[in-house]
Amino acid sequence: MTGEPKAREPGIREARARDAKTGETVETKGFYSVQELAKSPGYPSRERMMKGPVAVIECTQEIPCNPCEAACPHGAITVGLPITRCPELDGEECTGCGLCIAACPGLAVFVVDMCFAPGRTAVSFPYEYLPLAARGDKVTACDRSGHAVCEAEVLKVLCPPRNDHTAVVTVVVPTAFAQEVRGIVRPGGGIVWPRGDAGRSGGDVRG
Ligand code: SF4
Ligand code: SF4
Repeated sequence: MTGEPKAREPGIREARARDAKTGETVETKGFYSVQELAKSPGYPSRERMMKGPVAVIECTQEIPCNPCEAACPHGAITVGLPITRCPELDGEECTGCGLCIAACPGLAVFVVDMCFAPGRTAVSFPYEYLPLAARGDKVTACDRSGHAVCEAEVLKVLCPPRNDHTAVVTVVVPTAFAQEVRGIVRPGGGIVWPRGDAGRSGGDVRG
């Protein structure tokens, strides 16, 4: 890390309050609000998140899809029947292995490890751009809308053949941004942290 990044405003509490006030949804703004996700059966409780790595499934639109369920070797994800049911996560069964991340064609599954290190959270997400980041790279983490959030360091990049060209990138960020960071600005193709909200232009990456 190259210094402690400044908190971007609004923070997570402010974002929740704003979402509740405006009533905006994924339908109206193109990405999930924290309010929507908090009600999702695929979103682990804060208590579970505090215990270590866990899948975070951001899929609430009742589409006919279930590869995430088949990908989990621990039976921690249930779609069941009808296949349009939203995936439900059993946080106690989830080990945070991350096998479900690349299996999701909607790029809707993440793993968040709030116990990575004091004050640091590891966030793993699917990534389908080139060039790939590499371990140790300093990158700009972005939120669900693609907006820059904070500086991040790449912990690992996995792209085994079974992933069918969907890499899984893990970055380490300040824990204050654990519920916001869901991707990175494409290396060489976006803004460089820090630049401030006025310079936001990282919308081309959705983690
Ligand atoms: S992270 Fe691993 S254990 Fe958890 S739901 Fe995904 S595949 Fe299952
Ligand atoms: S694989 Fe992805 S898009 Fe399909 S149901 Fe699971 S989380 Fe949703």
